[in-house]
Amino acid sequence: MTDTLWTGLDQLTENLEILYRDLHRHPELPLQEHRTAERVAQTLDMLGYDVTEHVGGTGVVGILRNGEGPVVMLRSELDALPVQEKTGLPYASTARAVGPDGRDTPVMHACGHDMHITCLIGAATLLAQATDAWSGTLMLVFQPAEELACGARDMVDDGLFDRFPTPDIVLGQHIVPYPAGTIAYGSGTVMAAMDAANVVLHGRGGHGSSPESTIDPVLMAAHVITRLQGIVAREVAASERAVVTVGRLQAGTKDNIIPDTAELGVNVRSFSAATRSTVRQAIERIIQSEADASGAPKPPEVEWTIEAPATENDPEATATTIAALTAHFGDECVTEVPPVSASEDVGVFGTACGAPTVFWFLGCLDPADCAAAAQGAGLKSQLTNHSPHFAPLIRPTLPAGIQALVTAAMTWLGRQSS
Ligand code: ZN
Ligand code: ZN
Repeated sequence: MTDTLWTGLDQLTENLEILYRDLHRHPELPLQEHRTAERVAQTLDMLGYDVTEHVGGTGVVGILRNGEGPVVMLRSELDALPVQEKTGLPYASTARAVGPDGRDTPVMHACGHDMHITCLIGAATLLAQATDAWSGTLMLVFQPAEELACGARDMVDDGLFDRFPTPDIVLGQHIVPYPAGTIAYGSGTVMAAMDAANVVLHGRGGHGSSPESTIDPVLMAAHVITRLQGIVAREVAASERAVVTVGRLQAGTKDNIIPDTAELGVNVRSFSAATRSTVRQAIERIIQSEADASGAPKPPEVEWTIEAPATENDPEATATTIAALTAHFGDECVTEVPPVSASEDVGVFGTACGAPTVFWFLGCLDPADCAAAAQGAGLKSQLTNHSPHFAPLIRPTLPAGIQALVTAAMTWLGRQSS
């Protein structure tokens, strides 16, 4: 790869640290990424990209046409999470916002999407500076609402691949709790499918001293939760994998009042279509049956609110891309890993446009913490994505992420003969 591509990377990283800290201080909830999208759009515009805002809500698309050649799509997310930041960093977020439930909530870039944005802006800068090194079309996609698993779908439904060129390859990365400066990857299924349901169980409230005159939705919820844990243990084959988590349980206001309803938030991870269907059907069956067993006055409500497919890395495209990343970073910095139970909606893009997807993981933590974990101490939960303590090292994560995106893009863009 031509060395001129990396000209000014140090200075660029220094400038982008300011952008990163600014984005980190100003996180926005999914579907509310207005300020973030505007900053991205302004920056791409200054770099000479053809910028379109408000694609599928707050999504931003930047196109750089540079002669004949493949269309290479690079993707980042824009959104943050309802988490109270506890990192103690000088640029920690104190932001608050009103969530979809109408409640005021703290907001934090606890999944690292601010790092993804900054890395992609960095790659956009280097590639725009070096147009004599490649030919083709760069398509940068900054999507909203990854954390709700609906942003990619919203952009596709808003005509992403009708209004803009159709990519020949979809590339993206996500920071993970591995040593900063390293890359991890998988081939085939790399991340789980995710489904989430809001469940309302109906009972009949009354005085806590007279349960015989009520139908207790709290007890009903307890049975549902316990029984749901039997799905993976008893209905999923040992050769398959799935996760069923009840992450939310809300009922009642006081110890001596039996409430009318109980609500559950159920989250499912699976890797194959067959297991996904088995688990979802079992969840609905158990909820209905437990409501019947309690003599519920009304059928339970099960609303599937998130349905994201598994992330599939095209094996051939992955091998080609990883070979380039390995040549750039060195063998010792690139590792193959098994599929992870986290989920993503990046796969929606490749499926919609018929292009292969290659999605890799970028380490972002102090290697000493990762080494301690490898020696059996276990990774402190505070170091993982979505934790209030999640604090990626800006260096070398940022320059490594920029180089990974540029290297991967250059693998697919046409080369100009000079
Ligand atoms: Zn996340
Ligand atoms: Zn994420």
